[in-house]
Amino acid sequence: MNIHEYQAKALLKEYGAPVADGLPIFSADEAGAVAEKLGGPLWVVKSQIHAGGRGKGKFKEESAGEKGGVRLAFSKEEVIEFVGQMLGATLVTNQTGEAGKQVNRIYIEDGADIDRELYLSILVDRTSGRVAFVVSTEGGMDIEAVAEETPDKILTVPINPDAGVTADNAIALCDALKLEGTARDDGMHLFPILYKAFVEKDMSLLEINPLIVMENQRLRVLDAKVSFDGNALFRHPDVMALRDKTEEDAKEIEASKYDLAYVALDGNIGCMVNGAGLAMATMDIIKLYGAEPANFLDVGGGASVEKVTAAFKIITSDPNVKGILVNIFGGIMRCDVIAQGVLTAVQEVGLEVPLVVRLEGTRVEEGKKLIAESDLNVIPADDLNDAAQKIVAAVKGA
Ligand code: GDP
Ligand code: MG
Repeated sequence: MNIHEYQAKALLKEYGAPVADGLPIFSADEAGAVAEKLGGPLWVVKSQIHAGGRGKGKFKEESAGEKGGVRLAFSKEEVIEFVGQMLGATLVTNQTGEAGKQVNRIYIEDGADIDRELYLSILVDRTSGRVAFVVSTEGGMDIEAVAEETPDKILTVPINPDAGVTADNAIALCDALKLEGTARDDGMHLFPILYKAFVEKDMSLLEINPLIVMENQRLRVLDAKVSFDGNALFRHPDVMALRDKTEEDAKEIEASKYDLAYVALDGNIGCMVNGAGLAMATMDIIKLYGAEPANFLDVGGGASVEKVTAAFKIITSDPNVKGILVNIFGGIMRCDVIAQGVLTAVQEVGLEVPLVVRLEGTRVEEGKKLIAESDLNVIPADDLNDAAQKIVAAVKGA
């Protein structure tokens, strides 16, 4: 789960990280009062969407002006003007896709005088199997481009979970970021704080781009992106309260209600599969035969008819879906439960695209019989290979 920049900053501030004063606003008439409260003389007016690259982004509406989604304002009047332009407008960045995202919240922050922009993130590093810091002196820009063009400018520092951030770790990070004097003292203090926040709140990513050295040589968190491990959210009601459903895919929200592991993708073949490994393999084989999956969906082990029905409805509600592949290997999951779920969903919402069903395992005969006795127009398949070829052919023929 992701949260907004202003929420991430408030959370990091609780842990003692250096963050500017700032206030979020939800309607344009709050802008003047907030600007006055912060005092100036420099304000930063920041669009809050769950995507980066806002500064270099562009609004779809001409009325939002030429500037990007992060703007420096030098007077209260300018704050009010920018808020009026950006609130409700659609911001397109290199992370939003062409459709862009509507700006429904704006964060107004005290502006800083910047000396240097650095990059810092904490993530789960698969290579070392540890939580690791990733830092670079090349902050404020696209870190993927830095990694591609000048990988030597990025340092990864894995943290030993028993010891936490040691003095040696912190020194290595300060050296990599070329921090001296006051900025170095700030760094030595900041890195353990960020690590503590990451671990205690079960984050999966904490990205500060940029972390800045101000002209007075103090460090400040200028931007913050935080993602949380969805499987640990149950123990963080305070984090759950930060969820902004307007930023999420409606189908993914519906899926989470039924505890379905669902991720929307860009292709046109909807997949309903049990088990994450089989779901991955199903996506791979669809690609092998030249088509693209519309989603990842694992209905799980002991799914009920109700859950399967919900899953099937989510797939059919996606207008990009031009064909559906149900691929079930019944172990704990029973094939007749799957068949009943599909039939119930089709009765309720209809079926306008080709459907290939491959069932195998527990109660497979009962499952096949249910489908055969219904008047559902199903293309049966013998195995996964056959099923994938049939659905790809059906979609391409359509
Ligand atoms: P992003 O474009 O979505 O990554 O948004 P950021 O919060 O990183 O802001 C983009 C850029 O705006 C930063 O890299 C800075 O160059 C600039 N910026 C943001 N806040 C300030 C500020 O307080 N003072 C100054 N001078 N520039 C800022
Ligand atoms: Mg940024």
